[in-house]
Amino acid sequence: MSDTPTPDWGTLPLREELRGSSPYGAPQLDVPVRLNTNENPHPLPEELVARIAERVAEAARGLNRYPDRDAAELRTELARYLSRTAGLQVTRAQVWAANGSNEVLQQLLQAFGGPGRTALGFEPSYSMHALIARGTGTGWLSGPRTRDFRIDTGTALRLIAEHRPEVVFVCSPNNPTGTAVEAETVRELYDAAQAAGPSLVVVDEAYGEFSHRPSLLPLLEGRRNLVISRTMSKAFGAAGLRLGYLAADPAVVDALQLVRLPYHLSAVTQATALAALEHTDTLLGYVEQLKAERDRLVAELRAAGCEVTESDANFVQFGVFEDAHAAWQALLDQGVLVRDNGVPGRLRVTAGTPAENDAFLDAVRNLKKETPA
Ligand SMILES: *Cc1c(COP(=O)(O)O)cnc(C)c1O
Repeated sequence: MSDTPTPDWGTLPLREELRGSSPYGAPQLDVPVRLNTNENPHPLPEELVARIAERVAEAARGLNRYPDRDAAELRTELARYLSRTAGLQVTRAQVWAANGSNEVLQQLLQAFGGPGRTALGFEPSYSMHALIARGTGTGWLSGPRTRDFRIDTGTALRLIAEHRPEVVFVCSPNNPTGTAVEAETVRELYDAAQAAGPSLVVVDEAYGEFSHRPSLLPLLEGRRNLVISRTMSKAFGAAGLRLGYLAADPAVVDALQLVRLPYHLSAVTQATALAALEHTDTLLGYVEQLKAERDRLVAELRAAGCEVTESDANFVQFGVFEDAHAAWQALLDQGVLVRDNGVPGRLRVTAGTPAENDAFLDAVRNLKKETPA
């Protein structure tokens, strides 16, 4: 990969719509406190590390063969996890898994988007939705949010009726704002999208486990064109594993078989994910600690005079800064890396360990002292 700021693609026969665009990426700087990428700060517990080694060794003995193409055992265990935690019965036929939920989303757009088709999202939101649309040749339509970062339902319904998007992205809890979407809003958007022509509604629940509210999974009942995507990158603390999954009608899962690469999920990945799912209770225990730290960040940022967006995720959006990038730099100068997502006046901080969060809060208080609002 090139590190030059303005790549010279010259006469490369690059797709026209990719020229002049930039890849996804947060600056990865080597500083003491890194709270910029919504990772889980807890390393996996040692007993899980040992179990992964065991299961991977077992898988290694069969690496001369291709892996289970349908990832049957893994999908069964993911369905069991969803059934246990989300209050409805999910079957293996309803679950699909890939290398991170980004790959799941890409497969969805390969099958349901593409040239001549449109995907709608409500921004600011997860920028990969638009980037995956671009990568798959799908048109992108940016819907608005209200001043408090909720989906502007009235405008959304009008956009759906007018543009008839084939795919609608709903990120809940939303990255980077932390905002959860009401079940009623998803029902309304879904009904409008179906009335405008069949349309796939994709709820990105990457942060679902951190929410104050129950999962939107029960909405799958009776909604054939609804998809809920999930990941092991955040709540399971396994961003390095690259394992995302979805729950939907079995027909959606069948359709994805047309675009997935054969054997896309390595035997090592499947073995590792299965080991992690054996330790769900321990991992969800960390989630409870992080939720408490998230709530503490909200309270203490408010006490420090910041305006904070209500958060259902493992991160918090805060501000308002006259110059968000200058504030980002001032925090960095104190050894704390947060994320500037380009939302005017706002920054995003991931809930870290208690010590990391203390260091972050001290840095914010110092910043406030220097530049009182
Ligand atoms: C982090 C994140 C993902 C996760 O992507 P993976 O490919 O599973 O690591 C998906 N959606 C949103 C909104 C995210 O913030």
